[in-house]
Amino acid sequence: MDILERYNTLKERIDQCQKHAPLAQKQVKMVAVSKGHGIADMMPLLAAGQRIFGENRVQEAQEKWGAVRASYPDLELHLIGSLQSNKVKEALALFDVIQTLDRPSLIDAIAREIKRTTVQCTSFFIQVNTGEEVQKGGVHPYNLQSLYDHAQASHLPVTGLMCVPPTDSPPAPHFAFLRKKAKELDLQNVSMGMSSDFETAIRLGASHVRIGTALFGERT
Ligand SMILES: *Cc1c(COP(=O)(O)O)cnc(C)c1O
Repeated sequence: MDILERYNTLKERIDQCQKHAPLAQKQVKMVAVSKGHGIADMMPLLAAGQRIFGENRVQEAQEKWGAVRASYPDLELHLIGSLQSNKVKEALALFDVIQTLDRPSLIDAIAREIKRTTVQCTSFFIQVNTGEEVQKGGVHPYNLQSLYDHAQASHLPVTGLMCVPPTDSPPAPHFAFLRKKAKELDLQNVSMGMSSDFETAIRLGASHVRIGTALFGERT
């Protein structure tokens, strides 16, 4: 299958799953995770109308998307990798959505930068470390409410939650948990599900699924 066939097949699977799942959200968006692949690979998708792309690293995203932006005003770039405070300025200038808010100091750095200048970024998701894994980004579930309150007090437009469940356990309980927390905070956006488990995530209420490998093949 070429990339367009994979793309259309994935869209169809997302559609079918969304239509037949009672807990699914009315609209499910595919974030095409382009990390590790060059801009040439994105062209067929852009031509086919895909506009939402996810990247893990600020610098890679700048190099790849910086020049392309001007040609696609409705492009929507999501940062899905952890953000260091010293990259905040660049990230806010490039990304439309930052999905990885996970600590008060990062919120403070972002709030300072937004005060100073106009930024591209209009929406933030809080990443929740649902598996409570030490090596993983995301706020511990126990601290989610206070981090959310901190973001509110700093006037950051938080519109959703995101998680990356542990690789060694079934993802469904993590997805259900994230959706429940989003409901409690009255947040519409729930970013969960990747190539291997996006249908489970949709059934449990994902608004955004993040798909890399199933679309572009293995990363080198
Ligand atoms: C790489 C990555 C993805 C995409 O994973 P695939 O399994 O390749 O679909 C999704 N979310 C995050 C946070 C990632 O880092």
